[in-house]
Amino acid sequence: MSERLAVFFDACVFEHDTGSGFFEATASPYLPVIETHPENSERLRNMHAVLRKGPISEALDWYPGEPADRAALERFHAADYIDELESIPASEARAFSSTTVFGPGSYEICRQAAGLAMAAAGYAFDDNNRIAYALARPPGHHAQPEMADGYCFFNNVGVALEYLRARGLKKAAVIDWDVHHGNGTQEGFYQDSDILTISLHMNHGAWGVTHPQTGDVEEVGGGAGRGKNLNIPMPYGSGDIAYNRVFDEIVAPMVRQHQPELLCIAAGQDANQFDPNGRQLLSMNGFYQLGKRARALADECCNGKLLLVQEGGYAISYAAYCLHATLEGVLNREPGLPDPLAYMQEDTKRLAQFINQLRQRYSAALA
Ligand SMILES: [Zn+2]
Repeated sequence: MSERLAVFFDACVFEHDTGSGFFEATASPYLPVIETHPENSERLRNMHAVLRKGPISEALDWYPGEPADRAALERFHAADYIDELESIPASEARAFSSTTVFGPGSYEICRQAAGLAMAAAGYAFDDNNRIAYALARPPGHHAQPEMADGYCFFNNVGVALEYLRARGLKKAAVIDWDVHHGNGTQEGFYQDSDILTISLHMNHGAWGVTHPQTGDVEEVGGGAGRGKNLNIPMPYGSGDIAYNRVFDEIVAPMVRQHQPELLCIAAGQDANQFDPNGRQLLSMNGFYQLGKRARALADECCNGKLLLVQEGGYAISYAAYCLHATLEGVLNREPGLPDPLAYMQEDTKRLAQFINQLRQRYSAALA
């Protein structure tokens, strides 16, 4: 059983510049104080620092990665789409939507982010009981094969799993607990019977033309992949108990049935109770428990092969602490970092009703 965890990181990811304004929108002419875009380098600087200096630091080994090359990117993304990103002059910024901003030099940084996920994936896959985490930005799970979306350009998880398939991986499972629907990852593997994709997200629905996917339970996969995409739109206000019960009662059984060789966690922390982009209520303990569950499931089903890839998480201080708690759970360590913020209680009666609805919905699949 592994007591150590490999972190893949390159400081260039701090340089991806998404600008500033009115949260993620353009600045208001009425407000004198502008703020950085929520997907900013500060969030990663805090995550990096707490892993370097926090109680878990003694259990981490740090590794660099190489930028994903063209062939690696093309296993998940369309050539025309890569051409479009590559053709943007390194001195220029470009807005793919009002919120998804490609800064100067971002092409190389996005290649590096995907490459860090690939390197972490290779590490986790090569031997038993190997756990790796890619500390990277921009995040990837909204990036579709042919489209930038939701702060994301290359789908770091998608590129990493296709890299492993080129190296002999047959079956994998992705659990995406970022607070938003992992629509890009869903899209990339929608017809695929070998990659089980599960997304737990707040029930936000589709939020515009850039999101043809809705995150609804009806999106179950297509063709050979039918039944291999599972969306769990969590009610707003779901917290530690809801997420962990859904993991135990819905997610873990589905993963066991799939019999993956590797478990991949799209690890966002934006379901935390203070996130400006989320409406969920997870505390550090909730993330700690999720980390423990992911580890136990990987040990049970995948010979301990566990890959975690950073996604969202926008409360600049608390997301970093929630990441620390997640990785402590993954390593089965005692929590060494106290939660400095308050914790809200959950409505357990409403939660029980929701779980029962889910069990009915998936009763055939879980039988
Ligand atoms: Zn998110």
